[in-house]
Amino acid sequence: GSELDRALDLIVEIPDFPEPGVLFRDLTPLFGDAKAFARVIEALGEEVGDGVDRLAAVEARGFVLAAALGYARGLGVALVRKPGKLPDVAGRVDYALEYGTATLELPTGSVREGERVAIVDDVLATGGTVAATAELLRSAGAVVTGVSVVLELESLNGRSLLGAVPVHALRAV
Ligand code: 5GP
Repeated sequence: GSELDRALDLIVEIPDFPEPGVLFRDLTPLFGDAKAFARVIEALGEEVGDGVDRLAAVEARGFVLAAALGYARGLGVALVRKPGKLPDVAGRVDYALEYGTATLELPTGSVREGERVAIVDDVLATGGTVAATAELLRSAGAVVTGVSVVLELESLNGRSLLGAVPVHALRAV
């Protein structure tokens, strides 16, 4: 297979994490392999395309991808946080998880009115996290141009939460 296939093949399946019956996809070996990481960043950059003013990502693995991609593409990064970390919050959104709820916060000054922002994350699962991120960005005046992920878990149909926003996945399983 291609160098990108080889990189994506480093993703490990961990049964019963974080709870019984869930098959967790662990990107740790991919992040740890210099060539694989570089190939994945390059491929994500192709997916993000042109006409983007900024990237956005959710902590923690999203930050690693967005930082490398932002550097490679010459784009700044909006860093969406889990709650209680920020001194000054532009927006906050609560969203449903499979069990319970979660909250995300956007730091004040992260995006400008009318700015075109692409969201980057490691895994698209139910789509709740990315949909909440899109809502935060739009509330702050940004236009969400697309979502780029390394891995999409197709059976969870996360795309359906994202409406007309294009989703690019380097691999769908
Ligand atoms: P969601 O269900 O909202 O799409 O996913 C929730 C968050 O957990 C996302 O930020 C996603 O990256 C992460 N996530 C969900 N499932 C997995 C998984 O199997 N592996 C990894 N590495 N992250 C996951």
